[in-house]
Amino acid sequence: MKDFAFHRPASVKDAVALLGKHAGGKFLAGGQSLLPVLRLELAEHSDLVSLAHIKELRDIRVDGPTVAIGALATHDEVHRSADVKRALPALATLAGGIGDAQVRNRGTLGGSVAHADPAADYPAALVGLGATIVTDRRKIAADDFFTGLFTTALAADELITAVQFPVPKRAAYTKFAHRASKYALVGVFVAETAGGVRVAVTGAGPKVFRLPDYEAALGKKLAPASLDGISVSSAGFNSDAEASADYRAHLIGVMARRAVQALA
Ligand SMILES: Cc1cc2nc3c(=O)[nH]c(=O)nc-3n(C[C@H](O)[C@H](O)[C@H](O)COP(=O)(O)OP(=O)(O)OC[C@H]3O[C@@H](n4cnc5c(N)ncnc54)[C@H](O)[C@@H]3O)c2cc1C
Repeated sequence: MKDFAFHRPASVKDAVALLGKHAGGKFLAGGQSLLPVLRLELAEHSDLVSLAHIKELRDIRVDGPTVAIGALATHDEVHRSADVKRALPALATLAGGIGDAQVRNRGTLGGSVAHADPAADYPAALVGLGATIVTDRRKIAADDFFTGLFTTALAADELITAVQFPVPKRAAYTKFAHRASKYALVGVFVAETAGGVRVAVTGAGPKVFRLPDYEAALGKKLAPASLDGISVSSAGFNSDAEASADYRAHLIGVMARRAVQALA
């Protein structure tokens, strides 16, 4: 690992100012994705700006129809939060299925969302629920946030402060997990929202995406059988030693039916 300067700001303002000053720098949250990248020397950063001491980023709040979760909330905190379990049980379940105990104790919502791994779980919930990503300078709809493989709409010095999740009528997430890491080979989030049914898929392609054909069919009748006869093309899907593109396309149908069955 190459040397870097380490900063510990105590406010969002100071953190953003530090990254503004050091163009080769990066925010550091739980380090579960960034530190392996640095250790393997896949990237080099002159400065790491730790978010660990910014208390305002840790809140988890339910405000009427919205669950607002601070960027620094760990996966374990989201999983164990009584408020999240009550208002949005599908999200608590999703957080509890991320990686292992160590990853859940260190990894954060903001880090996962900013990293935009194509097999990460949270992106499916953000897009499946139509969440809003709040940064130090603006609000971004989840549909516009994930722009490609490990790529988002964030500017280089832009800090995610929170994610606002609208509480759905019902929602569920199911994934076919990688045997070792638990990343999603395919994960499907289904939500019945005020604006209709939303279906978001992670793990299958270079970034999370919605399935309009599934959404239309489930909008007519929210039952697994509504998906019968609707095929998903594997064009452009990920293909690796764990699962071919065609297998991933098949898994989408299986995971989506299970999610519909599990809606709560
Ligand atoms: C063994 C293992 C198994 C895993 N399994 C899963 C899994 O099953 N499912 C899953 O979804 N994930 C999995 N992960 C990834 C895990 O969820 C990470 O915690 C997450 O990807 C990154 O969060 P972090 O807080 O550790 O971020 P970091 O590693 O600290 O940062 C990641 C990136 O996000 C940026 N960043 C961090 N916070 C912010 C912020 N608030 N605003 C702007 N940018 C920010 C950093 O600059 C960096 O570029 C796994 C990781 C490991 C090591």
